[in-house]
Formats: sequence, C-alpha cells, structure tokens
Amino acid sequence: MNRRKLIRAALGAAPLIPAAIAQEVSRRTNGLPRLTIKDVKVITTSAGGNYRWVFLKIITSEPGLHGIGSGNNQYQVKAVIAALEEHLKPWLIGKDPDRIEDLWQAAQMKTYWRNGPVNNNVLAAMDMALWDIKGKRAGMPVYDLLGGKAHDAVALYDHQGGRTKEACLESLQKSLESGYRHVRIQFGQGGYGGGGFIPAGEGNRPEGGYKGSAFDEEQYVDAIPPVFEYLRAKAGFKPKLLHDVHSHMSGPNAVELARRLQPAQMYFVEDILPPEQIAWYKNIRQICSTPQAIGEVFSHPYEIMPLITERLIDFIRCRIAAMGGITPMRKLVALCELYGVKTAFQEGGENDPVNQLAAYHLDMSTSAFGIQEENHFPPVVHDLFPGMAEIRKGYLYDSGKPGLGLDLNEEIAAKYPLGQIRGGGGYPTDRTLDGTVVKP
Ligand code: MG
Repeated sequence: MNRRKLIRAALGAAPLIPAAIAQEVSRRTNGLPRLTIKDVKVITTSAGGNYRWVFLKIITSEPGLHGIGSGNNQYQVKAVIAALEEHLKPWLIGKDPDRIEDLWQAAQMKTYWRNGPVNNNVLAAMDMALWDIKGKRAGMPVYDLLGGKAHDAVALYDHQGGRTKEACLESLQKSLESGYRHVRIQFGQGGYGGGGFIPAGEGNRPEGGYKGSAFDEEQYVDAIPPVFEYLRAKAGFKPKLLHDVHSHMSGPNAVELARRLQPAQMYFVEDILPPEQIAWYKNIRQICSTPQAIGEVFSHPYEIMPLITERLIDFIRCRIAAMGGITPMRKLVALCELYGVKTAFQEGGENDPVNQLAAYHLDMSTSAFGIQEENHFPPVVHDLFPGMAEIRKGYLYDSGKPGLGLDLNEEIAAKYPLGQIRGGGGYPTDRTLDGTVVKP
C-alpha cells in the first residue's frame, strides 16, 4: 500500500484493518526505518521549448518514495548530465538518503576540486532531491523542516521594460494592476545593457572588425537614470523599482550610475559590477545608499561571504542550483539574517520549477527574505510538474504537499527531448565598438 492510501486510510476515507493503522502510527511516531537509495535517474527535457533542463530523481527503498532535484545549467547541460550519470549515480546508490548534510559534504569533497557551476549543479540536484524525500517522509513541506513559515507567501518581482520611457511606464502600470508591488524595468533595445547599445554597423569601428550592436558604458550611465526619474515623476514613489545592469559596468561607471540613481530610491540595482570587480562595492557604499543586489553568476559561497559580512550589498541574488542546493544556501541565508542582508533569489528565463521551489522553501523559512524573481512557465510545464508553485497577484504559493511539493511526469518529459545544441549552447556575447568582450 502506498503512503497516500495509508494516509487516506488513517483519516477514515478508505477501509484498513486496525492492526495496520496501529503499525503505521507506531512507525511514524517511534522512529523511521532505515532507508537506502535504490536507484538514481537522470531526466532531461526541453519541455517543448528551448529549455535545457536536467533533473535527478532519487528512488528510495520505500515503495513510492522518491525525490526530485534540479541541476539547471542552460549553457553546459551536457557536462552536468555526464557528471550526474558517470560520477554521482554510481557513488550514490546504496547510501542513506536521510543523511543530507553528510552526503552533501562527502559529495563535495569526492571531486577533490570543488565549487564552480557544474560541480555545484550536481550537488544541487542531489541535495534538492534529498530534502524532497525527507519532507515527504516527515509529511511536511521543506520550509517546515527549515523552521516553519516566516511569511504567508513569497513576494515576487515582475519583469517589465520598453524601448521608450513612455513604454516603460505603460508596462510598469500593467504590472502594478496585476498585483505586483515590485517591478524590474529594463530600457531600450538589445536586451541587458539596453540604453547603452550603438546599433549594428553604426559608430566609428576598426576596419574589418566587429559589426554587431556595440555596448558603450558611458552611454548607458547617461541613458538609465532619466528613465527612472521619469517613472518616479509619473508613477510616484510607491512602486518598488528594480533594474538589472547585468555586470556591464566597470568600477568608476558603476559608482557613478549608483550615485545618479539615488534620487529614484530604487528597491535595488542588480549586478552593477561583475563578480571579478566586487571590491568596487566599497566605493559605491561611500558615495550613495542605492541598494545593491548581486550573486546571479556566483557559484562559490566564499565569493559572496565578504560582501555579506562587510555589509557591502543588500540582497543576494544567487541561483540555488548554481550554489549547490538547499544545504549550503540555508547557511548563507542564516549569515544574511545575522548581517541584515536579504535574499532575492535568481529565477531567470531558463530556470525550472524544481529550482524555483527550492528557492521558495528557503525564502518561506527565513526572516532574511527580501523578494524572489518571478518565472512564468508555459502550460506544458504545468502538466510536466504536477504540484508546481503558482503565482497569484504577485505572490508565489506552494501546493501544500510534503517535500518540495511537486512531482515530475516522466512520460511528458520524454515527449520533449533536449534538442540539438548548436554551437555548444553558450550565453551570447556582447562587445564594444572595438570588439572587446563585455561581461554578461
Ligand atoms: Mg540578473
């Protein structure tokens, strides 16, 4: 008999002999039998779109009890798949899934060289699945295992923007009307860095060199603050406004942009600097109080720790799947709480519902929660993940089911295999007029 039937039976919804009920009650109240990891499955899917998703399903010795974890890495998915199949799976089978901390530590050390995106994706996939199993076993959502709800739901920020400031205002109003209180506004053409791009073929360029759309830092520093000045003049100071610089600035321009955005009273400015130049946050702090968020491309907890302990940033933007899962992140979250820094976990467009829920459970359980990035998924993804989180009026809600709260329909996943990855599938590269690479 599976656990759902047993629970139903215990509630009186289905007949069950009293001895079996007594045995089940005893099992749940007098200690749980030892589990083992019976099998491990690596499941990949495009979910009918351009996603390159990889999940780990850990199957236990208890019939029907399994966990799902995300190893999300859009740009090096094949490396994650190989590492899970060839290096983690043979090591993990037969181990005790209850010992999450021990398994995480041992799995991290077994690669000898540790941290970095692929290693952390592997750890995260294992770790999320183990927390999912433990939650199901306890009959509790993961946030209950982490200390219980610290809020009623997880507030999200919306993504908006436009090619003109008038279009930015219109999109902001649309978000506010749909219930969001926090809205990220991007400007101009060309994706991240928009407002700072010189159109393809224009500008004075070296002979025979780069011809594409070219990023110019000073143009960006001039273009962005007037957009937020306009939005404040028209929409007032009630909406919480955010902006993502996507690491496109070098030090002095980052300081100047933060200073010029001060009058707009931003909720935060994201990734105003790349991870290679985080020492400049000290200079930003000396000149203005524009709140700073960073961490999206971090994959090493020790990179971000000094920014927290020296109070040089206000929000950590890490992706749970890139940082090694719930186990290392709950420690960073505790550090944030102690130092007055908040969470703003990253949920970019290629993210998946498992990683989204891992972030959600951490957010739900901590008073260091600030905001989470929204992530809309097409209908097929809702069929693929029964029990996935839902957005209603700017808030994210879980299914209320134990564990992470969702499952993965393997038949639907198999219908949408990973497509051909052209050119290796890397993140697009921005360049300046003279062809220099811009940090993304
Ligand atoms: Mg970002």
